[in-house]
Amino acid sequence: MTTLRTWFESNRSSLKTRWLKAMGRTTPTVWGCDWPGLFEILEAGIGCDAAIQTGVADALRAWVIAEPSVRQGSPSDALAAIFLLRTTFTDLLWEAEGGSVVTDWPAQVAAYLDRMAILATETLIDTVEQTVTGRLTETLKLERDQLEALYTITREISASLDLTLVMDRTLRIVSKAVGASHGSIMLMDQEKGILVLRAILGRDRMLPVEGEPTRFKPGKGLAGWVYEHRQALLIEDVTKDSRWMKSKRGNDRTRSLIIAPLIVDLDNYGVMTISEEQPGFFTEEHLRLVDTAAGQVARAISNAQLYSYVSQTAQELGESLRREQDEASKSQAILQSIADGVVVTDAHGRIILVNSAAEHILGTRWRSMLSQDVRNVFAILERGEREEMLKAMEALAANPTAYRDSPTIIQSKLAMEQTTVSAHMAPVFTSGEQFVGIVSIFRDITREVQADIAKTEFVSTVSHELRTPLTSIKGYTDLLMAGAVGPLMEDQARFVSIIHNNANRLTALINDLLDISRIESGRVRLAFRPLQIRDVVQDVVESQRAQFEAKGLVLEVELPQDLPLVQGDPERLAQVMDNLVSNACRYTPKGKVTITVSQMQGALRMDVSDTGIGIAAADQSKIWDRFFRADHPLVEEVGGTGLGLSIVKMFVEMHGGRIWMDSELGEGSTFTFILPTMEAQGSVIPKPESEIEAVSFVGAGRKTVLVVEDEPDIVALLRYQLEAHGYRVITAMLGDEALYKANAEHPDMITLDILLPDRDGFDVLRELKDNPCTADIPVLILSIVQDEESGFRLGAVDYLTKPIEERQLIESIRAILDHKSRVLIAEDNPETASLLSQILEHYGFLTMVAVDGYDTLATARREKPGLILLDLRMPGMDGYEALVRLKQDVETRDIPIIAMSAHAADYRSEREKLLSLGAVEFLSKPFTAEQLVVELERVMGGSHG
Ligand code: ADP
Repeated sequence: MTTLRTWFESNRSSLKTRWLKAMGRTTPTVWGCDWPGLFEILEAGIGCDAAIQTGVADALRAWVIAEPSVRQGSPSDALAAIFLLRTTFTDLLWEAEGGSVVTDWPAQVAAYLDRMAILATETLIDTVEQTVTGRLTETLKLERDQLEALYTITREISASLDLTLVMDRTLRIVSKAVGASHGSIMLMDQEKGILVLRAILGRDRMLPVEGEPTRFKPGKGLAGWVYEHRQALLIEDVTKDSRWMKSKRGNDRTRSLIIAPLIVDLDNYGVMTISEEQPGFFTEEHLRLVDTAAGQVARAISNAQLYSYVSQTAQELGESLRREQDEASKSQAILQSIADGVVVTDAHGRIILVNSAAEHILGTRWRSMLSQDVRNVFAILERGEREEMLKAMEALAANPTAYRDSPTIIQSKLAMEQTTVSAHMAPVFTSGEQFVGIVSIFRDITREVQADIAKTEFVSTVSHELRTPLTSIKGYTDLLMAGAVGPLMEDQARFVSIIHNNANRLTALINDLLDISRIESGRVRLAFRPLQIRDVVQDVVESQRAQFEAKGLVLEVELPQDLPLVQGDPERLAQVMDNLVSNACRYTPKGKVTITVSQMQGALRMDVSDTGIGIAAADQSKIWDRFFRADHPLVEEVGGTGLGLSIVKMFVEMHGGRIWMDSELGEGSTFTFILPTMEAQGSVIPKPESEIEAVSFVGAGRKTVLVVEDEPDIVALLRYQLEAHGYRVITAMLGDEALYKANAEHPDMITLDILLPDRDGFDVLRELKDNPCTADIPVLILSIVQDEESGFRLGAVDYLTKPIEERQLIESIRAILDHKSRVLIAEDNPETASLLSQILEHYGFLTMVAVDGYDTLATARREKPGLILLDLRMPGMDGYEALVRLKQDVETRDIPIIAMSAHAADYRSEREKLLSLGAVEFLSKPFTAEQLVVELERVMGGSHG
């Protein structure tokens, strides 16, 4: 760091030259003195501490005493020299500092040199006094008075920054020292270009604060001349000087005059005058004294100006600082009062600003957040959401301009407590378009989310409540229509059919509402598996053909043979297709509907087009909104909920697909959706050559079903339906009763309602499965509560949601009781898995698929299938290991396992090895469908018979 001392040393020579030059300009008479020696003495103390400066003071005193020229010449010259050095020095420093106020060096130097000047004066006065002791001449007395005057002026000036006071006192002291009675100080008004009277002595009037303008301009009058020539003048008699401008008032009796310029180096402030009414009053000594004093006044002015400049600058700085602080605290106050949490990061992701709402929402003190990496703050978010948030933030930082007008919005759950926040993130730009960071706004939306959940739950509860009475209505009307209690008369049949249709509509509405509420609350899990879209389309076409025929519409289907598999939930895709085809049928008064399935790059495309009423352009974007129905007479007539398409869209998107439409009012519409295909992989099982006839179900004997249900209407309905199919029915209305009867009567199967008056159905299920006497009784859940997952986890074999179709119920019961058992296909190749499951389902088995060893263990434990078809080649845990583990686990060791592989080098030894590990059979691929089914029948017949 530069100190004053080092600065001085590097500027020493230029300083000395400047000083000596200035000296030469102003005091030519004393040029013979040892001024360079004086410089050397004074320089030693600049920027040094008090101890060194004491040494300097001694040296200075010695110099003053020893310097003969001081004694011979004028002692005041020594002072003038020191003052000049002071000026030169501070000017240079001031220049070097570029006018800034960063150091107080000029002030330090000035104070030091002022002290030295006073010291020199004191020494001089002493010296003079000693020299003249006893013989005090007039000249020497005068000399001493002058020195004292200068000494006083110096002290005054360094003691005060009040310019008016300094000018008044200087005038008084100087005039006293030279014995004059009048004097004035005039300062140049730079704007007006005239000298202004600022201080007067010996005149009986007061000056206004801002001074009194004079007639003197630069070069005009004696004052103007001195101002312009920067040179002091001694006029013996002003009346003899052509430059003299007489006072207009005519009362000016001035004859002798000294005028000295008020200059500090380059700055020229004005003039000082000292006058007497007597001609020839002043001497050269007087002139020098006044000139030196004028120099002092100039310095005082310069100091005062400097001071006022510094204080004004400081004040301005202070003002702007305060304004900035005001602004900042205003913004801070606004920021703090915002209910949303605000976190601002710089371009590198470091937090630079946080408000108190953010503290509250994120649960961290702002002090601990400031200048932290924003990642650390996001650590409190739940894992997946944290990554999503950071990813969004990185994307935003990588290309901020792209997000300029569209902030990224992310909803996240905080890991701590159950708070949900939404985060809006937007880039911040300066007015110069420079990206400076990201502002993230966090809003606590827990209440909104909770309200949403409550709404969804409400919808779901109401719908469930509606299902119970609907189950009875539908069931009994079904029975009435089927003639179960005798034939109906025509009117009766018509009325029953109206009831039936409306019950169906109500069921559809409830199902739609439930679908929406379940999708929204994330409770819908799609049961993905490899599937042929052909099958889905064909099923839908078959189920709807009658409706088309009834309306006289043509239904065309273009369905290529070799379509790749898609990974999907067959039920949900059927629902999508069903909705589109039934809309096409309902909104088409005449003409035809075409279903086209085609293959695209990596996707399948399904088009459902009709020649129906079409959709107005303005409505086309709204048809995906819930409850939207076009304003068209036919739409009114056919009735509907306006929910179908919004569900369709959600399901297509959940499959990774897309859906859109194209329509013209009055011409027809085409609804198109695409689904990604699975990667095609070769199948080792040959496809069945011909369509396999579905096997007819073996008739059921008198098997006993325990119906656990508290609604008497539904109990009666189920009893009727089951007995009609040859089953014996026993019933229980309460959970405890069900447990008792299951134990006592050991029925072949149980249908279980989940909402029982005394206990939760899931608890009943758990107890049934925990009791060794009842654990093996298959349980079919019949419930309005859609929670298949819990049901299956607790060991139910199937789960039907009310209202229940009779056909569905009987099929499910048959599947369970007729030992068409469930087969777990453990196979990683999706095509093979799909083919196997198609074949087996054709033969009446229920199938499920596991894609690797771990999945196989988990599914086997959960589902307790009747058999496992185990591929030996699987990723991760292979079939051998899975086989060993299945056989070690008490839960799964009784499940028969058929191993299969395409890679057996030696069939016989491989088979032996597998049988020793616990497999019941080994099939070497390729094998035919018949071989497989025969083997399965053999094994399952044996174990379940
Ligand atoms: P819904 O058919 O029960 O009213 P959707 O959500 O399936 O509910 O359909 C919403 C609306 O879209 C319908 O009410 C109808 O106005 C219009 N729409 C749907 N499909 C077609 C179609 N194939 N032709 C003309 N309009 C249709």
